Amino acid sequence: MSELQRLLREDLRGRTAYGAPQLEVPVALNTNESSYGVPADVVAAIVERVEAVAGSLNRYPDREFTTLRADLAEYLTTTTGVDVPVEQVWAGNGSNEVLQHIVQAFGGPGRIALGFTPSYSMHPIISRVAGTTWVDGLRSADPSDPAQPADRAARPAQTRFDVDTDLAVAQCREHDPHVVFLTSPNNPTGTALDLSVVEAVYEAAPDAIVVVDEAYAEFARPGTPSALTLLAGRPRLVVTRTMSKAFAFAGVRLGYLAADPELVDILRLVRMPYHLSSVTQAVACAALEHRTAMLAMVEAIKAERDRLVDGCAALGLDPVPSDANFVLVGGFDDAAATWQALLDQGVLVRDVGIAHHLRITAGTPSETDAVLAALAAVQTATP
Ligand code: PMP
Repeated sequence: MSELQRLLREDLRGRTAYGAPQLEVPVALNTNESSYGVPADVVAAIVERVEAVAGSLNRYPDREFTTLRADLAEYLTTTTGVDVPVEQVWAGNGSNEVLQHIVQAFGGPGRIALGFTPSYSMHPIISRVAGTTWVDGLRSADPSDPAQPADRAARPAQTRFDVDTDLAVAQCREHDPHVVFLTSPNNPTGTALDLSVVEAVYEAAPDAIVVVDEAYAEFARPGTPSALTLLAGRPRLVVTRTMSKAFAFAGVRLGYLAADPELVDILRLVRMPYHLSSVTQAVACAALEHRTAMLAMVEAIKAERDRLVDGCAALGLDPVPSDANFVLVGGFDDAAATWQALLDQGVLVRDVGIAHHLRITAGTPSETDAVLAALAAVQTATP
């Protein structure tokens, strides 16, 4: 063991860091970013806003990011129809940071965070780094149960990966967690949650902050309700969102949440002072003002997602129907070998560690063509 490993916190020894490969490839469909750049007129507005704050960068930013919070509240209210006042909004450098604020405030040593695997890989990492015990809950009955098919991939795509409400409730009762993570639409499966699951988990975990991570909400198919509709009367419920996905603004690092005003106030205890830079605030406000242009490609991306589902099914693969900007595709004999074979053809997708599955981000029509052609070549090459 090296000197530094010896000095490292025991609970972090041997852990691996978050590590989605950042490779220069012609077709990068591995981190659920938008493939579309920021439109030229929004670039001009961003430059103007940055110029306006540049002369005052000798000063700390507005610690309460007042204008940005008001703009986010207005965005949520107009797009979801749920009245979200500014006191209910909080933001950070990516939704990862707002998730971290929640865990720092409500998790920590001696406390438990529960999630339902497979889900977003940062939920356990953020929890453990804050010293919280992570419980890897099951989404549905234990695959090792003899009553279940031994191989999850053998189950029909529609039911695979759904959260079983009774099982989720039982796990909440068993572990009595302090934080519960639900993700809707879920990463990496793309499946949206029925709100009855959120309601049941909230009731079954009376000591928990229940987080519904809605990073991909804008991509959901019509009729998928947001957990924002459940906020009234549920002071322990938190809904997190991000500008990284539908807003095509991953480089800015802006995530946010809606919750009870008292919970938002509590988060001030754990955030670093002035955590959102003046530049971040200005740029995020510019994007929110130009939301029509920023969100213009959402429908086109959804169309590519659905084309990916159909195209993969036509190749004899097993795509999971998706409410996000990506598709989890099953049916590969050897997912790691296929991942490499796709990369050899210049197409980078994500091996999320689920046997026989790969996750593919939906991008431009030509990227869909490229990934489907590459998959066809790999499928043909595999006997
Ligand atoms: N939640 C989910 C479910 C995600 O997939 C991601 C990004 N991959 C995030 C949160 C974090 O996004 P960001 O920090 O860029 O807002």
